[in-house]
Amino acid sequence: MRKNYLLTPGPTPIPPQVAEVMSRPIIHHRTPQFQAILKEAVVGLKYVFQTSEDVFILTSSGTGAMEAAVINLLSPGDTTLVVQGGKFGERWTELCKAYGINTEVIDVEWGKAVSPQEIEKRLKANPKIKAVLITLCETSTGVTVDVEAIGKIVKVTDAVLVVDAISGLGAIDLKTDAWNVDVCVSGSQKGLMLPPGLAFISVSKKAWDKVAESKCPKYYFSFKAAKKAADSTDTPFTPAITLVIALNEALKMMRQDGLENIFLRHKKMADATRAAMKGLGLELFAPTAASDVVTSVKVPQGIDGEKLVKTMRDTYGVTIAGGQAELKGKVFRFAHMGFIEEFDIIAGISCLEKVLAQMGYKFSLGAGVKAAEEVFNV
Ligand SMILES: *Cc1c(COP(=O)(O)O)cnc(C)c1O
Repeated sequence: MRKNYLLTPGPTPIPPQVAEVMSRPIIHHRTPQFQAILKEAVVGLKYVFQTSEDVFILTSSGTGAMEAAVINLLSPGDTTLVVQGGKFGERWTELCKAYGINTEVIDVEWGKAVSPQEIEKRLKANPKIKAVLITLCETSTGVTVDVEAIGKIVKVTDAVLVVDAISGLGAIDLKTDAWNVDVCVSGSQKGLMLPPGLAFISVSKKAWDKVAESKCPKYYFSFKAAKKAADSTDTPFTPAITLVIALNEALKMMRQDGLENIFLRHKKMADATRAAMKGLGLELFAPTAASDVVTSVKVPQGIDGEKLVKTMRDTYGVTIAGGQAELKGKVFRFAHMGFIEEFDIIAGISCLEKVLAQMGYKFSLGAGVKAAEEVFNV
């Protein structure tokens, strides 16, 4: 027998009531029954996005919505400004390159957040920049950026602000409208407590003006096609019906809890996780801009980071994530996002301690759990 705990930054665990609706017989999508669900889901998404603008549901993983943003807003030969402080910032650059769009890159040291003033400087130096592409939470490093400050800067220019909020939306605060985010991109398998397979995207009025000028080729991910269908509570192609039904269920739970309470829960879990790591004498990888959805921790000297993650998963059923790209083996990432609460964190820290002790790391057994409990018990 094995009980599994999923503490990775996507996919994240699924609530039982969400799993339950996915086991029901399939219904047809061009029916009043499905339309009622779709309508309710879009209202719920607007609540989570904190927007009154258009929000579309796409059938793809999160990256599909990133691609949709690029091809609907831009034309080959345009220039964008990309903040690149990890693997997901790099994805924006790769996407632009694939469509012949030039990129100006702000290379941020991995583990640090971009300075909004740097974005301001680059926008002033090149007024031709059509879009600023950033990442709310750079999941590869565990850094959250100041979207509100960046939004104020981009607002007064001709550029649109596009935010990859795939990890973070519905877990930490992102006020799409109030923070002047023109296009906000998210996915189903992170804060929204669903399996992978859906992506979501919001489009502001300023962004629609860019859509009108865009000459990138597009078909499946066309915003105009999405809008035309959405106006009659429909989708241009067969939606992932089962996942949309699940989405509606997850959004009901989120509206019941309330965004403020959800954000507070994530903050508390992040505080507890960070305290636990300190209690174990471990060093955070991104101490100055630490995200409240995933904590990245430096693997201590003499410990095999990949083996640590593998043993926790394969011997004890607790899955955390290792480092990606240049951080492979150097950090581990402990996620606390979505359908996770206090005692999942305690179980995860307890398992981390068990395996660290087996691997010969010296610390006082229970110090991590104790530090986490002290945060939870106030
Ligand atoms: C997970 C993630 C993605 C990738 O999403 P897919 O669903 O795998 O396409 C993109 N950006 C960030 C910040 C992520 O955390």
